[in-house]
Amino acid sequence: MSAVEELYERLKKVNEPKGYFFTKDEDLVWQLLAGLLKNKERYGYMSCPCRLASGDREADKDIICPCDYREADVKEYGSCYCNLYVSKEWNEGTIPHVPVPERRPPEKSPFNRWPGMDA
Ligand code: SF4
Repeated sequence: MSAVEELYERLKKVNEPKGYFFTKDEDLVWQLLAGLLKNKERYGYMSCPCRLASGDREADKDIICPCDYREADVKEYGSCYCNLYVSKEWNEGTIPHVPVPERRPPEKSPFNRWPGMDA
């Protein structure tokens, strides 16, 4: 079994009982899981594959998957920001699939933390 397949099985087992399902779009699932593994290799933790991490675990802790925003996003939109985790209704197509807006506060993005900005 590949590392991505192992991650798939492990996360599915932990998350489905909590009501978080992988999206039916399997290609997207594999891409995002590969992104999580890449980030683990790069930073030492699985930061969100759809967001730019800073490399500082403390600064990135809100976007370590599952991020702090998943619960509210799945509740409100039926999907997390990346569309990796979705509700049953999302997969069944009984709710509209709208783009999930970024819920992370802008000041937490590395783009907004250039050196000297706080001076
Ligand atoms: S948006 Fe989805 S994939 Fe990204 S960290 Fe949150 S739960 Fe994980």
